[in-house]
Amino acid sequence: MQDFKEFQSVEFQCYQRLLKAEGFGFWEWVPEEDAVHLRGGFWRTLGYELGDSESVIRVSRLGEVIHSEDWHGFLKTTARVLGRGHRMQQRVRVRHSQGGYFWLCLDGEITRRRDLQISCVSGIAFDVSSQQELEQRLQKSEERLIRILDSSNDGIWEWTEALGGFHFSDRCWQQLGYDGHDDAMLMGRNRLEVWRELIHPEDRARFHQHLVDHLKDDSTFDLEYRVATKSGGWCWIRARGQCHRDGQGRAVSMSGTNMDITELKHTEERLVFAREEAVAASQAKSRFLSSMSHELRTPLNAILGYCQVFAMDSALSEQQQQSAREIRKAGNHLLQLINDVMDLSRIEAGQMSLSQEPVLVSRLLEECLTWIKPLADVRRIRILRDYGVLGEIYVLADATRLKQVLLNLISNAVKYNRESGLVTARLQASTGALRVDIEDTGRGIEEARQAEIFEPFNRLGAESSAIEGTGVGLSITRQLVNSMGGEMGFRSTPGKGSCFWVTFPSAADQEPAVEQNLSDAEIEQQPGLGDAPLRVLYIEDNPSNIRVLKQMLEAWPQVRLEVADEPFYGLYLARTSRPDVVLMDINLPRMDGFETLLFMQQDPCLQGIPVVALSANALPQDIERGKVAGFFEYLTKPVELPQLLAVLARLKVGGQ
Ligand code: ADP
Repeated sequence: MQDFKEFQSVEFQCYQRLLKAEGFGFWEWVPEEDAVHLRGGFWRTLGYELGDSESVIRVSRLGEVIHSEDWHGFLKTTARVLGRGHRMQQRVRVRHSQGGYFWLCLDGEITRRRDLQISCVSGIAFDVSSQQELEQRLQKSEERLIRILDSSNDGIWEWTEALGGFHFSDRCWQQLGYDGHDDAMLMGRNRLEVWRELIHPEDRARFHQHLVDHLKDDSTFDLEYRVATKSGGWCWIRARGQCHRDGQGRAVSMSGTNMDITELKHTEERLVFAREEAVAASQAKSRFLSSMSHELRTPLNAILGYCQVFAMDSALSEQQQQSAREIRKAGNHLLQLINDVMDLSRIEAGQMSLSQEPVLVSRLLEECLTWIKPLADVRRIRILRDYGVLGEIYVLADATRLKQVLLNLISNAVKYNRESGLVTARLQASTGALRVDIEDTGRGIEEARQAEIFEPFNRLGAESSAIEGTGVGLSITRQLVNSMGGEMGFRSTPGKGSCFWVTFPSAADQEPAVEQNLSDAEIEQQPGLGDAPLRVLYIEDNPSNIRVLKQMLEAWPQVRLEVADEPFYGLYLARTSRPDVVLMDINLPRMDGFETLLFMQQDPCLQGIPVVALSANALPQDIERGKVAGFFEYLTKPVELPQLLAVLARLKVGGQ
């Protein structure tokens, strides 16, 4: 008895403690009483005042306590449970006495009498507000993810070891033209197997390798491959994925996305095709232009060569000399056109290689002004210099091309000037750069046509005047300036004059390069040929080129010219008569000029004889190749007599 009492008291204390718990409370519904009894301190924390340790809520007032949105569901579930079950569990929002709601989980059991009538339903209630909130947040984020994935149009796939299979979202199949995961073709089949079968045979091994690598060392899984579509075509898929590992590093699942990149691939293929076509077209254009240049230079060599011969012929009348000068002028114009077109096409094809070296602008300006002076003098145009303290400034540029730029601007300033006009060459400092202004007092450019000034072959009406030109100069000039990191612009007032300007980055702290190209003035100052005989062997197959060179050199009797019209004979003559110099055409029959030169370089008898190339292959790369091969000089056709004589004179000086 004592023991039982003790036991009772222990149990009582335990119930006491349970009733004080704040994490959960007790409830009980007795149908006959039409009341829900609430017990435990928990209810007090929610604002349900407990009388003596218990509160009572009338069933008829439950609707006021439970959230209206949950009320209907609550009634339905309760009715179902009361009808058939013996256990109930549901969540509802219950009003806090201070306002607002909290989520309650009602977990209870039904006690029935022998006749199965309910005697009471009782259980516990606990606050699941934070859990509910978490679940709702999770659900929202899941919904958001699904929305994002749906809008991205990507298919999703997943492999899980635990679930023992592969899952492909409907989108994966839709990308291939199937209805979705329940397309008839897929029914009852292992989806992974089906997918593997559909992969393009050429891509299967790559796909497999990628997967194996990724699972082995976590290398990026991102690959593009083709999968057969329902309609018999190929769908390009970009698959990206990531495997997930357990604590031991074993891959236990992998998930990823499939992006349909078919359209992108087709566009890419079209682009590649278009680029290849453009490259082929550009190569064809380059080939055409270089052969055109070669073909035109050959007859021009004869035309301009004879003009030079006529100029030295005292037997010709003044009128005949005048005609020869006209022919020479026209020939030079044609040559200029060829050069311009070649330059333009090379710049456009990005093949113009430019060096960037420190160049003294004032020096190049001086050269150009000296060169242009005779032209200016004829029309009594004065040339002014305004360099200030900037005459010593170096800029970073390609010296040859910078000269071409300045020459073009200065010659335009003279060409389009008025009689007795003025040309001013001015240097100005600009941030980090030097600016060159070439100003004239000429006719200016109509405002309406100024926008066309840099269009190639557009002479803005000058074609109907007597002023010579090709209309390409400014277009080349601007592209050259830009390629050298500079800028170009102009201002012009019709009837008053124009000012074209270019800027180049200044070459602060850079060692100036030694300029190697000889100016025309320097060529003229070269030593003469002297009286001693000079034996020249000319290897050339074109009879007209041979004739013109013979006549050009007739005025220099010390030059003993021997001619071979094909390379083997040339080599024979070189061995037997040991000339002082060989002039070599490049396009020769059976063995070209380069091969002939190589032959000479390897023959101990001929090694020491300098060889000068005389070629109609006049592209910069031809000239460069010639220098690398070991030609003493590479001269291009049409041959300019002063240049040829200067080279021969240098040889003579070197040989003595
Ligand atoms: P070209 O002088 O060979 O015709 P350019 O490309 O150098 O070709 O010049 C294009 C056109 O711009 C010229 O034909 C001429 O009409 C106009 N132009 C160029 N420079 C001047 C200038 N300084 N004054 C007036 N017009 C000019």
